[in-house]
Amino acid sequence: MGEFELIRRFFTRPVRRAVLGVGDDCALLAPAPGMQLAISSDMLVEGRHFFADVDPRRLGHKALAVNLSDLAACGARPLAFTLALSLPRADAAWAGAFADGLMALAEAHQCELIGGDTTQGPLNICITVFGEVPAGQALLRSGARAGDDIYVSGTLGEARLALEALQGHLQLPPATLAATRLRLETPTPRVALGQALRGIASSALDLSDGLLGDLGHILAQSGVGACIDTRLTSALLTAGPGLDTELLRQCTLAGGDDYELCFTAAPTLRAQVEAAAAASATPVTRIGSIEAQAGLRLLGNQGQELLQRYASFDHFSA
Ligand code: ADP
Ligand code: MG
Repeated sequence: MGEFELIRRFFTRPVRRAVLGVGDDCALLAPAPGMQLAISSDMLVEGRHFFADVDPRRLGHKALAVNLSDLAACGARPLAFTLALSLPRADAAWAGAFADGLMALAEAHQCELIGGDTTQGPLNICITVFGEVPAGQALLRSGARAGDDIYVSGTLGEARLALEALQGHLQLPPATLAATRLRLETPTPRVALGQALRGIASSALDLSDGLLGDLGHILAQSGVGACIDTRLTSALLTAGPGLDTELLRQCTLAGGDDYELCFTAAPTLRAQVEAAAAASATPVTRIGSIEAQAGLRLLGNQGQELLQRYASFDHFSA
């Protein structure tokens, strides 16, 4: 199977919303009047972001999910994506399963594959997503204000628990491993919640490297500080009975690969936040508040300030 046969069999779909899809030198996308395009790329590299033996169907899902998560964080609606793929060999079973996982998620979000590039090489997947958002309404990292509440969607830390278990650093009961592994390998992009938060959230981002580190981006870009209450974050990770509480706290605060949204909103908008969560069928939890004073404070079980630092993931740190 050659390059063009591979593209034709697995990565060519009739387009519905785009003006032109796979097959020409460029795809064509016509943004609707009054809308801005929201664009983001995320790359997954074998050995860095996933294990070589991961189920290709799950890998297809995750490659698109992490990109849709960026659109969600901006409050954008997904439109289309491109796929740049480097593959060691044209393995039809692998490519078919990868495409199935990818396309199932694409269908669910009506996000169409409109082009890409395919080359032979080490396994590497780079997707660029295109979404749309009403002009001026994108959720940014820079809008948090002192006094705002801080929220996260869903639960945090399961992906890291699974990673630690798969790397042999800890043992999980089989059912817990299976459940946490699903979170690691098939994250759920919070696309509906992101759109429901337009006009309500003052800032937002998606959590890929760990809560405290990622929240740091909001704080830096908004010029504020924050206080996080671990009595509120402890409810975010209930998996893993019998596991050390400090390990669970590590996974929740600095685990990474969660793809939940972290956002801020004025306390006067609590009812609207709840309504957005209900409308998008996505649980959200209030975990702290934004402060005028720079820095990130953490409160412990008794409300005392914790001094422990929780490092988040950085590809280039030692
Ligand atoms: P060019 O050489 O002009 O860049 P290519 O031969 O690389 O074009 O690709 C041919 C067509 O197939 C293009 O429309 C391109 O967007 C599309 N394409 C290539 N790889 C993929 C892929 N993995 N998924 C979807 N479309 C692809
Ligand atoms: Mg090309």
